[in-house]
Amino acid sequence: MSSIPNITLNNGQVIPQFGFGVFQIEPKRTAAAVRTALEAGYRHIDTAEMYGNEAEVGEAVAASGLDRGDVFITSKLSNEAHEPDAAREAFDGTLKALGVDYVDLFLIHWPLPTRYDGDFVSTWKTLEEFYREGRARSIGVSNFQPQHLRRLHGQSDVIPAVNQIEAHPYLTQDDVRAFCAQHQIAVEAWSPLGKGTVLDDPVIGRIAERAGKTPAQVVLRWHIQRGDIVFPKSVTPKRVKENIDIFDFELSGADVNDISLLNKNERTGPDPDKFTGK
Ligand code: NAD
Repeated sequence: MSSIPNITLNNGQVIPQFGFGVFQIEPKRTAAAVRTALEAGYRHIDTAEMYGNEAEVGEAVAASGLDRGDVFITSKLSNEAHEPDAAREAFDGTLKALGVDYVDLFLIHWPLPTRYDGDFVSTWKTLEEFYREGRARSIGVSNFQPQHLRRLHGQSDVIPAVNQIEAHPYLTQDDVRAFCAQHQIAVEAWSPLGKGTVLDDPVIGRIAERAGKTPAQVVLRWHIQRGDIVFPKSVTPKRVKENIDIFDFELSGADVNDISLLNKNERTGPDPDKFTGK
């Protein structure tokens, strides 16, 4: 396996472009899944307080024997904790659950325009405290639209290092990605496989057959070549290994373009402008 590329964030910190997501992995299965991923060469884990499995992620990283500095760990603020004191308490809880004294990246999970008076700017300023303290090496946001990012831009000091958004061949997110590129905000594509929905697409199937790769590998490779950061989820060891095995081939520009043309602006998850956090 060729090595996983790194991306340098706008604050100089480095993130592996490829990692492992643990959304909807039951706590009792999480440590084993993360162990499989680490053994397969993954060095970047994406979790969240709301996934309920931070402790098991921490357990697997600790048991791996890898140095803390060799595994990039992201977590995210609970939707219940946007008020600054609640955010401080939640962040302490995240570090404790993971059993670490810093996370590599901490995100506001959703903008939540209808909660806490939609005041995610105060929430962001609280994340800036964690960043200054060094307890979050980088801070960022998730599910932010350009108008949310513009509001932060005008009213805060630190530019988010990343924006983690739903993105896959059926939701290419051209506008948000262009805005992020313009402002040096790295894009992380969540549900990079569209939760599996894009894998039966005939265009992807045809490209996969020609490349001698699986549809999942082709889609993940498409993300990598677009420059986004991805962390597919699977609890099946065979798929965990298959998903990381994408650094020994390249899609042509025409293939990348054909996959991008599959866009239907079709979300598998909530609309960030409407999502109330419930
Ligand atoms: P995904 O696109 O990674 O799809 C996962 C599903 O695809 C699996 O459950 C499995 O059914 C299938 N799959 C995986 N590998 C496969 C393979 N090789 N062949 C065939 N099928 C395969 O979806 P996801 O888990 O929703 O997203 C990945 C990660 O993104 C999450 O684990 C989480 O870390 C993050 N995420 C973040 C947010 C957010 O709001 N910030 C929301 C959802 C997910």
